[in-house]
Amino acid sequence: QSGGNTGGSADNTAGTNTTGNNTGGSSSGGATIALLLPETATSARYETQDRPDFEQTVQQLAPNIKVIYNNAQGNATTQQQQAEAAITNGAKVLVLDPVDSKAAAAIVNEAQQAGVKVISYDRLITGANVDYYVSFDNEQVGRLQGQYIADHTPKGGTVVMINGAQTDNNALLFAKGAHDVLDPLFKNGTLKKGYETYTPDWLPANGQREMEQALTKLNNKVDGVLAANDGLAGAVIQALRAQGLAGKIPVTGQDATDAGLHNILQGLQSMTVYKAVKQEAEAAAKLAVALANGQQPEAGLVNGKVNNGAEDVPSVLLTPVVVTKDNIQDTVIKDGYTTMDKINAAK
Ligand code: BGC
Repeated sequence: QSGGNTGGSADNTAGTNTTGNNTGGSSSGGATIALLLPETATSARYETQDRPDFEQTVQQLAPNIKVIYNNAQGNATTQQQQAEAAITNGAKVLVLDPVDSKAAAAIVNEAQQAGVKVISYDRLITGANVDYYVSFDNEQVGRLQGQYIADHTPKGGTVVMINGAQTDNNALLFAKGAHDVLDPLFKNGTLKKGYETYTPDWLPANGQREMEQALTKLNNKVDGVLAANDGLAGAVIQALRAQGLAGKIPVTGQDATDAGLHNILQGLQSMTVYKAVKQEAEAAAKLAVALANGQQPEAGLVNGKVNNGAEDVPSVLLTPVVVTKDNIQDTVIKDGYTTMDKINAAK
């Protein structure tokens, strides 16, 4: 029994998708877990990696548990409705990757009142008591991006920073990590900060506009671009291309998307940060199954605590890895995260 609707990119804007052998709802045996992801528009990871990895792991650990899957398509109100519907439909655990890290506290409060556990997935939910947080060391993601820019931008060069969405706690941590590395260099004149902005909703269209504005403001004198993820890197590359600058200056990224890796092989993007989503999704699935069954998680899985403004949340924090064209084979290909065929076919 392979089970599970893991076949990729069904359109779940409105509907609810479920997997598992127990199609009859929680009354016929197994518990229900809801996986609530934030969007599909700005990073491929959610549908191609997080969702199938999570569903497969739950299926393996507890075939009688039903998984409800919803994607909020970047809308915090939609996400709240999806969470409420999941609770109404008997979910005992929400694995919630919030569209808006602060607004999602309301979802957590509703869940608590209904006796439902919440795992904050990938993005930290701030200002509410969640049961666990599963993510990467997100400041380290930003430090890796910042260090790449520090190491590859010529002395005295001007740096543009295109950060993610301010409503995403991760975007704040990525920017913080990058600033930890770059601020001392801005201060002592080794590099100049020419432009910095957050990008509403992480949308590449917004990122491209921002990069165009930066180029205009700086008269095209840009020597390095810190783009917070591969979607934004692609947008930056478009804006650079229009000025004949694509491939001439370092551009960072994140997520090791096929499009990002394709740009790296073409020399248009310089690096990406690979986060082994499989490990992240598996950790979340293990915690969710333990919570659903009223058990303790396996020893050693929880490896830290992160303060979210309300409490120290027991956390699983994984390690991000820099990928350049020199180590694609040894990282994302070796791990089975993607294939050369998929990278070559991406655009
Ligand atoms: C995730 C990134 C992703 C971004 C946009 C962040 O919270 O950690 O992997 O690129 O959101 O979806």
